[in-house]
Amino acid sequence: MKKCMICLMATMLLFSSACALEISGDDFDFWYEEMRVLVEDIGERTVGEEGEMLALDYLKQRFESMGFNEADGTLAQYRCTTDWSDEESISLVAVKPALNPGANILTVCAHYDSHGPGARDNASGVAAMLAMAKIFAAMEPYADTELRFIAFSAEESGHQGSLGYCAGLTADERARSLAAFNIDILVMGIEEEDRALSMDTLGMRTADGYTDGSEASPARNRAALALLAAMEETGYFAPEDEDVLWCTPRHLGESDHESFHWIGVDAVNYCFRGTTASGGTWPALMHSPDDIMGDFDLNRSWEALDALYTALDGLANDPAYGD
Ligand SMILES: [Zn+2]
Repeated sequence: MKKCMICLMATMLLFSSACALEISGDDFDFWYEEMRVLVEDIGERTVGEEGEMLALDYLKQRFESMGFNEADGTLAQYRCTTDWSDEESISLVAVKPALNPGANILTVCAHYDSHGPGARDNASGVAAMLAMAKIFAAMEPYADTELRFIAFSAEESGHQGSLGYCAGLTADERARSLAAFNIDILVMGIEEEDRALSMDTLGMRTADGYTDGSEASPARNRAALALLAAMEETGYFAPEDEDVLWCTPRHLGESDHESFHWIGVDAVNYCFRGTTASGGTWPALMHSPDDIMGDFDLNRSWEALDALYTALDGLANDPAYGD
């Protein structure tokens, strides 16, 4: 009898761990409203100008409302300058510690600076990062996974914020960094053609060290594999689904995931843009004054958020998730 109970519990555990996670309607509304505030209430977020400071203050408040704070070290500001620019940029890092020391680190990041109102690029990504922070902040801590949620500045001026942050990571933090999920454009207009879901990657850890992917053979690193597994679990973005514009992982930098790659951390840029067939074009409205709130394909954004949530929880519970 006792054995049966254990079997039953083990079966239930297995079953529950195989269930795809879904965000709630409230979480989705939260994502949409955060995006709207950044675009319509704050507006253009150019580095060194008022919009960036307004956004920084706003994001700090949002993190604090979730329980992160500077007093206990779960919220920190990172100031960075580069040798080619005097501009100082400030990024915000929120940390959800693990129960155990020496835990793996999973990073979710998005850049909050913009050229223009930046709804797609990248209020949508910042809002997605905030939505993940809110969900995971309310959950019990993981035993062996620390979560970091980062709003980077100065992506649009050479990835300065993320380069500075990554350069400042200790050898221990780098070794513990399991994967980084950068989000740069997570909403597309319903009429837009360039709205495939893409995972841009540059490299991966192997037994022999850190290796680069290539155009012919894009890296399928820890982050990309977890997202692919999450899509299979959720059933979203199935490659065989003709109604879904889909990109497999591709070899491309061009956002803050690059900075993690340079220090040997598996990273992807999770984003909507053109298909492989179209050359992976960025949305036409990117960096334009017309990148405003509009008639978005919200269903796809919701599914992308669900897949991200599932991938993060999967890796946080099992570092081999997606292998
Ligand atoms: Zn961007």
